[in-house]
Amino acid sequence: MAPIVRQINELEGTFQSFSDDELRGLTASWKDDLAKLPTPEEQWKRLDEILPEAFAVVKNAARRLTERGHTFTVCDQPMKWEMVHFDVQLIGGVVLHRGKISEMATGEGKTLVATLPLYLNALTGRGAHLVTVNDYLARRDAEWMGQLYSFLGLTVGCIQHDQEPSVRRQQYACDITYGTNSEFGFDYLRDNGMATTREQQVQRGYNYAIVDEVDSILIDEARTPLIISGPATISTHQYDKWKPLVEQLVRKQTMLCNRIASEAKEKFDAGNLEEGGLQMFKVKLGQPRNKQLLRMMEDPEKRKAIDKAELSFYQDTRKDELFALKEELFFTIDEKSQEADLSEQGRSFMNPDDPNAFVLPDLISEFTEIDLNHSLSDEQKEKQKGERQQLCDTQAERIHNISQLLRAYCLFEKDVQYVVEENKVVIVDEYTGRKMPGRRWSDGLHQAVEAKEAVQIDRETQTLATITIQNYFRLYQKLAGMTGTAETEANEFHDIYKLDVAVIPTNRPVARKDSNDRIYKTRREKYNAVINEIKECHARTQPVLVGTVSVEASELLSRMLKREKIPHNVLNAKYHMQEAEIVARAGQAGTVTISTNMAGRGTDIKLGSGVPDRGGLYVIGTERHESRRIDRQLRGRCARQGDPGASRFYVSFEDDLMRNFGAADRMTKIMERFGLEEGQELEHPWLNKSVETAQKRVEQRNYLIRKRTLDMDDVMNNQREVVYGYRNEVIDSEEPRPLIYEVIDEAVPAKVQEYLGTGKPGEDANYAGLLQWVNTTFPLGLNKDRAQFETRDPEANAQFLIEKIKDAYQRKSSHEEPTAVKSLERYIILNAIDRLWQEHLYAMDALREGVYLRAYAQKDPLIEYKAEAYDMFVELMANIKNEVLHNLFRSTSNLQAFENFLATLPQFLLRETAPGAGSDGASTGTAKRPAGVRTNTPTTSTQALEPENGEYAIDLPVRRGGPKVGRNEPCPCGSGKKYKNCCGRVA
Ligand code: ADP
Ligand code: MG
Repeated sequence: MAPIVRQINELEGTFQSFSDDELRGLTASWKDDLAKLPTPEEQWKRLDEILPEAFAVVKNAARRLTERGHTFTVCDQPMKWEMVHFDVQLIGGVVLHRGKISEMATGEGKTLVATLPLYLNALTGRGAHLVTVNDYLARRDAEWMGQLYSFLGLTVGCIQHDQEPSVRRQQYACDITYGTNSEFGFDYLRDNGMATTREQQVQRGYNYAIVDEVDSILIDEARTPLIISGPATISTHQYDKWKPLVEQLVRKQTMLCNRIASEAKEKFDAGNLEEGGLQMFKVKLGQPRNKQLLRMMEDPEKRKAIDKAELSFYQDTRKDELFALKEELFFTIDEKSQEADLSEQGRSFMNPDDPNAFVLPDLISEFTEIDLNHSLSDEQKEKQKGERQQLCDTQAERIHNISQLLRAYCLFEKDVQYVVEENKVVIVDEYTGRKMPGRRWSDGLHQAVEAKEAVQIDRETQTLATITIQNYFRLYQKLAGMTGTAETEANEFHDIYKLDVAVIPTNRPVARKDSNDRIYKTRREKYNAVINEIKECHARTQPVLVGTVSVEASELLSRMLKREKIPHNVLNAKYHMQEAEIVARAGQAGTVTISTNMAGRGTDIKLGSGVPDRGGLYVIGTERHESRRIDRQLRGRCARQGDPGASRFYVSFEDDLMRNFGAADRMTKIMERFGLEEGQELEHPWLNKSVETAQKRVEQRNYLIRKRTLDMDDVMNNQREVVYGYRNEVIDSEEPRPLIYEVIDEAVPAKVQEYLGTGKPGEDANYAGLLQWVNTTFPLGLNKDRAQFETRDPEANAQFLIEKIKDAYQRKSSHEEPTAVKSLERYIILNAIDRLWQEHLYAMDALREGVYLRAYAQKDPLIEYKAEAYDMFVELMANIKNEVLHNLFRSTSNLQAFENFLATLPQFLLRETAPGAGSDGASTGTAKRPAGVRTNTPTTSTQALEPENGEYAIDLPVRRGGPKVGRNEPCPCGSGKKYKNCCGRVA
């Protein structure tokens, strides 16, 4: 390293004779030079060559600002520039440029170090990012270091939480941009998962990033992914409104079921097993957790009778009887699928005046009717459609709300699946019995339970986009990091991020005195000793920084200090600006500061006047943290830049770390041998080692947990890359038509194969099914004779259809305005991607949670997860294509044009055809339907149109209704058969 430092300093010497403009001129000429290099690799190479000169330029600029006593404001505070890069800072800068982690102690001036590689890498014109832990630091560092950049002719921007997209775009357009990891990450998600045009995107690539406090961001925050969520449905929920009625209904049903159960018991007692079994099956349908039912199910004979009754009803021939049986109840509950359905009786109880209140209108036919009504103007048509849509949404919401309330009442038990705490419903993890605060059941169920328990009802949200921090940072072509403490986690940085750690020596020798740990038998004794120590420091006005591992401990200490009348500050992580001030003041004579976890706080503590004579800042740790790194962070807060300072940790055998991982037993024995008395402590370097061993054990375990999370997220990451890549291709394409044709080219052969097989002898070819699919998806007007599928092999059939579809599509779009068609085409694809991707994210969440249970079945959850995630992804991509096909002829950029197109179709096709359900005519019913309708409400089942005129009726407006069911799952119609053999049968 030394030669390069010498070289930089020599060059800096020669630059001293340059004029400001000459110095600045170098920035411009390097930029021009680099812009001419075609590839990033060539640019990197060039950067390595100019590094010494560039660093020297930055250092020289710092010198000029210092010599001129440059003043400016940072976060509205006046400031003066008075620093020129030290040699160790130059070394730190080289390490950062090379894409490694610089470990530099607190107070070594990492903020200034970063200016060197940021300047150098920004010369490429492709942007350089500095990632801070909070908004305040992003602004502070951008305004502070910005003095240097603007002196040299580079622009600097800063992302803040409350900025509008247009402002953000400007910040990203700057040569250098400061911001927090979550703002960067969220912008990425918004750009790639939500923006629908290039203009809406704010970022411009991932070239080079330096992560400040890298351990805090990449390790401590690594377990919580960034999630953008949105309201799952328009929040017009009526859980409050329906609750009293549902409550009554549940009560009525309970009475009914109890009566039936008592009758059944009489039947059983009289030896009539069949009749009793039938009755109890009815109870099971209406109240699966009925007490009498549960008791009878324990009796093998009765259980057999009930099971037999159940089985007999699930035969195809008894469908009607089953239906009639259900109608005798107010509603039915299916425990396995967790569904609840109102019967006719139940519906009229809920809304006696309007029997249709719980039946969804057939929106598509209504729209068609409106469209074909020529006495209406376009405007009137739009208005009427809007009204119908609204009505439909309200009905759907109502049906959904009531069914969720029924589930909440009948399937969810307080203190079993959830507890109520502080006016909140908290889910209880079924397997561990642990509470899971902050988690919510989806799709309105949580709100229904909240209504049931009469607590505050929160708005429903659903994941729209998600990424882990790790995976965001992996997007960068070059990543670097800096922190005071990385060494202990060097393995993890290397394995996961391919980041090597270089430990940079301090500018001046460290004068800190680290004392041995003091170990006590109980917590109480430990805290008393801590308070005594603080009192002594306070008496001699030496400032103290007290670190705790939990907020709870901070509060306890604060109360104890109050009792002793010692004034003190407690750090509250919520207010970053205030926090920075508190930290900055912590070095003044006589202050006492309590803080939980000092890692990543980013402000260094300067000593007040007279404090060095009192021994500098004294750091007290009140517990050893699970991770040694956090303890080092705390220690590192004192003795910066050669200042005096001291530190000591207090430990008790009751601390979590010692109880769970320490050799507490052995230690207790030692203590007994020494005859440790109340309040007495142990202190020995040998004991420090024991504590450290315990810490290493926990670190290892936590590392494995994080690695596991990441392994899981890797799967998601690959999928995200594919989907976002596809999305951006759509957004960027000037000509989206080839993308549409690509979908046709890929999806049609797959469909043909689904119906006809591969054409090998012995395979069943379902020609009728194929024809049906073709005619419900495209206005081709094919019939058996015209299609002649039998005369071709599957491949030729696919080719035949592809040509016909493309031809029809060309005809359709020729009636529309070309630019409008282009944006419609983009929209059709984006819409399909977004809707299905969100559903997919949801399903992946469920998979991730569910897959852990497989561990009990001796299966590796990761392997299982990967396999299933892959299958789901393949299905997702196929679904996206199918949805695009499905919407291709149901969307129009212009209603009039669509009618013109319809007019060109043969008359028999015209009758049923209508544009999509969206009021703008550019989307389908499926896309606009609120989430609630997706659940199993039998009243909404598919309104498949009867084929007319034999086989070639076109029923384009068919909606997809009902839930998405796996082909091997039980059919949702309740037949008890597999879906593929029942309603899901392809033929
Ligand atoms: P770190 O992030 O490494 O803990 P900071 O970047 O917050 O440290 O800087 C700590 C303090 O050191 C700041 O007040 C800064 O002004 C000062 N400082 C940094 N580099 C120099 C330098 N080369 N000369 C003088 N003061 C410096
Ligand atoms: Mg810092």
